[in-house]
Amino acid sequence: MSIKENLQKIYSSLPPSVTLVAVTKTHPAEKLQELYEAGHRQFGENKVQEMVEKYEVLPKDIQWHLIGHLQTNKVKYIAPFVALIHSVDSLKLLQEINRQGEKYNRVIDCLLQVYLAKEETKFGMDEEELEKVISSTALEQLTHIHIRGLMGMASNTDNQEQIDQEFRTLTKLFHSYEPIVKKNLKMEILSMGMSSDYEIAVKNGSTMIRVGSAIFGKRP
Ligand SMILES: *Cc1c(COP(=O)(O)O)cnc(C)c1O
Repeated sequence: MSIKENLQKIYSSLPPSVTLVAVTKTHPAEKLQELYEAGHRQFGENKVQEMVEKYEVLPKDIQWHLIGHLQTNKVKYIAPFVALIHSVDSLKLLQEINRQGEKYNRVIDCLLQVYLAKEETKFGMDEEELEKVISSTALEQLTHIHIRGLMGMASNTDNQEQIDQEFRTLTKLFHSYEPIVKKNLKMEILSMGMSSDYEIAVKNGSTMIRVGSAIFGKRP
């Protein structure tokens, strides 16, 4: 099936409230252009350099989502244009994003990444670290970031029950923070679900899914 047909198939199974971020990592710019021509505008990349290179050659109304681990020294390259950073895992990183946001005179939308998977090393904060960041007084001073929600990845497993349970845990955590609203924090986006597990994620309340191979086929 074509990229366009794959997109339509996914959209037809999604509630209209769920945003689809097409994960374009490893694919060449021509493939991304095809996706653009099919009308899609939300693109996700996991590496800073790759995202910058594609940003430079593709139409400027694309919304770029950084979904992979972000090092503080690389924030400056994406700060001028990134739409949403899904993978914020420390206060230190938030402070750097804030500094770069100030420099470019913009407020940068961020999600806090929560560690869910049990069996392997994945990036993200545990619940205790998350609580520390959200309740810290240092956070209140950051006027050029806006925390819009949480992001998480389930374990890479065929065990549907385990995936379901991990997404349920994240959803509960997300709802537990909903009553907390600050100038630069409001829980509105729950980014969870990829090609293999987005249906389970949506069933559990995901509002944003990050899907690559179900659109483009297997990555090279
Ligand atoms: C690659 C990636 C995805 C998409 O994975 P698919 O299995 O191709 O849908 C989603 N989220 C993150 C963080 C990724 O790195």
